[in-house]
Amino acid sequence: MGNSSPEVQAIAERWNGFLKKIEARYYEVLQQTEAPLDGVIGNIQYDNVIIHNIANGLKNQTVTQLSEKVDVAAIKVEGELKKAGASSDLVYGERNKIHVLKNWMEIEYLKFEVGLFARAANKILENVKKHIDENKMHRCTQCGAELPINVFSFMAINLKCDSCGSVNTYQPDDRVKALEYYVITPLAEEAAFSEKLKARTDKGAMKEYYKKYYGYLMDNVPDKKSYYERDLNERLTNPMFMM
Ligand SMILES: [Zn+2]
Repeated sequence: MGNSSPEVQAIAERWNGFLKKIEARYYEVLQQTEAPLDGVIGNIQYDNVIIHNIANGLKNQTVTQLSEKVDVAAIKVEGELKKAGASSDLVYGERNKIHVLKNWMEIEYLKFEVGLFARAANKILENVKKHIDENKMHRCTQCGAELPINVFSFMAINLKCDSCGSVNTYQPDDRVKALEYYVITPLAEEAAFSEKLKARTDKGAMKEYYKKYYGYLMDNVPDKKSYYERDLNERLTNPMFMM
């Protein structure tokens, strides 16, 4: 009887084999999506809505479903181990392995997801760049003089032309607006990803994450710098965002 009994050993061995299979299954699901995902990204135009849908489905097939499987199996194995006379320390140790595995899956999935959205973002950026007429977007509609507007301006503004004095209403192209949400935001997430991972176990790192994330947005969307700065300061000073 006890932990060294062949019965307890056999149950523990089977359990550890099962956990390894779950890990392998996680990779298998994602590997199967590689080729289809290449096709999806190749066909993306100006938004990443399809990527959101795919990512939700994949998270369900990996993290959610596999975690449920592990939880159900853990209850069964716990009962078997107790029945076979295992010590409560051993039972606790074996059961604790599910937290390690689930945490691992969540982190692996976050890595996969941030990379996937960044790939889509780069593809959208490539598409947008093909359709931006730099000359057209800079010039006064009346006299054709250059206006102080960045090609990637994200906000509608009224501007008085220095040459002729007429007021131009600048409306950003829809594709340019799409850049903010479908390109720059996911790339900011990618840039700040290691800080986000650290913040899972070290709440102090959350501030570093916000600084890096908003820093990226401020650098890349200069039109909205003050807006992002306000958001950042709110996150750095309001304890609600640190939980
Ligand atoms: Zn003008």
